[in-house]
Amino acid sequence: MRAVKRYRVVTFGCQMNAHDSERIKGMLEEIGLGEAPSPDAADVVVFNTCTIREKPDTKLAAYLGDAGARKRENPDMVIAVGGCFAEAQRERIFSLYPQVDVAFGPGTIAHLAEWLGAGGFGAARGAWGTGDERAFAATLPMHRERGFQAWVQISMGCNSVCSYCIVPAVRGREASRRPGEVLAEVARLAGEGVREVTLLGQNVNSYGRDLGTDFAQLLRAVDAIDGVERVRFTSPHPKDFRRPVIEAMAECAAVCEHAHLPLQSGSTRVLKAMRRTYSRERYLKLVDEMRAAVPDLALTTDLIVGFPGETEDDFRETLSAVEEVGFDSAFTFVYSPRAGTEAVAMAEQVPDDVKRDRIERLVEVVQRVAAERNALRVGRIEEVLVEGASRTDATLLRGRTRRNTTVNFTGTAGAGDLVDVCIERATSTTLAGIQAEAARRLRIPTSAGTTGSQKLKTRYVKTARTAAASGTPVQESANGSSASTAPAPPSGSVRRVSA
Ligand code: SAM
Ligand code: SF4
Repeated sequence: MRAVKRYRVVTFGCQMNAHDSERIKGMLEEIGLGEAPSPDAADVVVFNTCTIREKPDTKLAAYLGDAGARKRENPDMVIAVGGCFAEAQRERIFSLYPQVDVAFGPGTIAHLAEWLGAGGFGAARGAWGTGDERAFAATLPMHRERGFQAWVQISMGCNSVCSYCIVPAVRGREASRRPGEVLAEVARLAGEGVREVTLLGQNVNSYGRDLGTDFAQLLRAVDAIDGVERVRFTSPHPKDFRRPVIEAMAECAAVCEHAHLPLQSGSTRVLKAMRRTYSRERYLKLVDEMRAAVPDLALTTDLIVGFPGETEDDFRETLSAVEEVGFDSAFTFVYSPRAGTEAVAMAEQVPDDVKRDRIERLVEVVQRVAAERNALRVGRIEEVLVEGASRTDATLLRGRTRRNTTVNFTGTAGAGDLVDVCIERATSTTLAGIQAEAARRLRIPTSAGTTGSQKLKTRYVKTARTAAASGTPVQESANGSSASTAPAPPSGSVRRVSA
């Protein structure tokens, strides 16, 4: 009898890829493979790749080098490469990396089992995965890391034409998933104990245009599903962030007070060359509208330095935009030329040393602003969804606020619990505190009037909904529907990403 084969999936890149990897793992388990603790111990290694910048390509080359060496010792080992890099290198992937057995693009995961054969035996060598028609992977088995959080894909592809970006070339035109399918998946997840869902798409705010619906309607429908306590979404494009979505964010109890709103550059001139189709002024006006509607809103962003033609003055406009908006955190990228994009052929490519200098200066400002904003949370009580033990201190718990800030805290809760935490300290990336019940037991005073208002709002609205369904009248609690009027504050991580 053949032994059970073991797989390892190595994921690069964005949340969309991480979600695709959950499907890949689910499929591999369904065809009889078990998960290996590391790529070294695996019979089947799947690299789910990203090609947004050069760095992931370089990292993949190193991983494939190691995997190739192991395959020379164990020729039965199967190496599969999926995702955006595979799609971008479709014509030459097997000549670039002869050790690769199977390659496939994003959106064709459904066929993985056919390519690998039953139990992972009999993979066709040097084969581009067939089944080129893109499809939502919704009906595929899934291996989720956490029982109480889930990603839900609402669209695939992208119709924007950002001049630096390879995504439209590798993920194709935008296609929305039918609302009924999305809602059925969320309801099923809620039934399985999921409390937080994150709706995923390259541009969630253009969702539904191909189906005669829109993102605001979807957001409201997801919010109405019982059991879902938190709804997040990523990423919206500022050009499509319209009033109905802002209103849905303000009115839907489960929709979290956080938006990841990629700015890319603070210079209108550079934004134009990037083909982002909004100006600095329009972005700032949007921020004002969002904060007026959702007073405790956290804003995070993506920023690129060193785009072709970016002058020192343009760059300073990015620095001043970070200050003016007061981002809670930002992913900061060094512009990376990608073959096949419009920007790669632009004159005035910025020298590497200038890019390096700018990213360092940008990270400094982003960190300072994030630290200032996080400091505003000290003394407040935040609702935290517990994710497990702290990564740095096993005696502490770790979780996230509704505003998506990581909190390390002393407490007794279990993973998946929603608890109140008194915030005592802050850095540019995390908050620290003590579970409110423990604080009360120890009689530690906490600032009055700075409670987790959104949680109360959630509880009130959810209770009202349940009561309405059962015909029971509900009394609004004294502070039940009040949103905090504190200045939009801080959270989040500052991640520096280089080319
Ligand atoms: N669709 C999302 C959006 O528009 O916000 C995310 C796209 S991409 C996966 C995430 C981020 O990568 C972008 O927002 C951009 O800041 C960055 N990025 C994309 N192409 C890049 C490039 N060629 N060089 C550096 N950063 C890039
Ligand atoms: Fe790329 Fe722009 Fe589409 Fe985002 S919106 S995936 S940056 S083309």
